[in-house]
Amino acid sequence: MNSVHNNLLAIKTKIQQIAEKCNRDPKTIELIAVSKTKPASQIAEAIDAGQLAFGENYVQEGVEKIHYFQQTSPNLKLCWHFIGPLQSNKCKLVAENFDWMHTIDRLKIAERLNDHRPIDKGKLNVLIQVNISQEASKSGIAPEQLPELAQQIVALPNLSLRGLMAIPEIEDDFDKQVAVFRKMQQLLHTLQTQYPFLDTLSMGMTNDMQAAITAGSTMVRIGTAIFGARQYS
Ligand SMILES: *Cc1c(COP(=O)(O)O)cnc(C)c1O
Repeated sequence: MNSVHNNLLAIKTKIQQIAEKCNRDPKTIELIAVSKTKPASQIAEAIDAGQLAFGENYVQEGVEKIHYFQQTSPNLKLCWHFIGPLQSNKCKLVAENFDWMHTIDRLKIAERLNDHRPIDKGKLNVLIQVNISQEASKSGIAPEQLPELAQQIVALPNLSLRGLMAIPEIEDDFDKQVAVFRKMQQLLHTLQTQYPFLDTLSMGMTNDMQAAITAGSTMVRIGTAIFGARQYS
């Protein structure tokens, strides 16, 4: 077994243990393997270990990998999540190639994704990114803007609004991590009273996965713990 295989097994065991600890069904927590900056060969190792959902941050890099696996393994049912910041001129590539988009933070991006989504691909699953730590530098909308943007996105026929996503400020204290994620859980609960079909809370990375699952995360986005540390050139 290679290290990606071992790491995946370890992460899945950890998700199971955390879920048991907070009385959740581990099947309600989906693992997204974040493969940004990592080569297709490492993604292939993860696929061999049974992983089918991958997250990418950079449009060009992600699309190249998607096309590579479409050509080399056309029968594999891979699911690709776009989780990086998105400029409006790259919306077409995301709409044409990805299955999920996690970082919608303004109507213009949603409209462009809607306009460019090929009909035969079905609706693009989307999440609204919330700036939950209220940092000036981070992307995502303020919680107060959520009702309006949700209403606008729900009206777009080629998108399927599924829930919320957040990347909180780095925080080492577990209880403080949980407190921030609980705010996201509350925001989703409030939105669900109007949109009961919302089912997704994308939160939790290698360093705050336990807190995120404790606070109701349904999708954890894990890179480093699966593929090792990243090197940016
Ligand atoms: C890079 C990245 C991750 C994965 O982070 P790790 O700390 O390597 O697990 C998750 N979500 C987003 C949005 C990212 O950019």
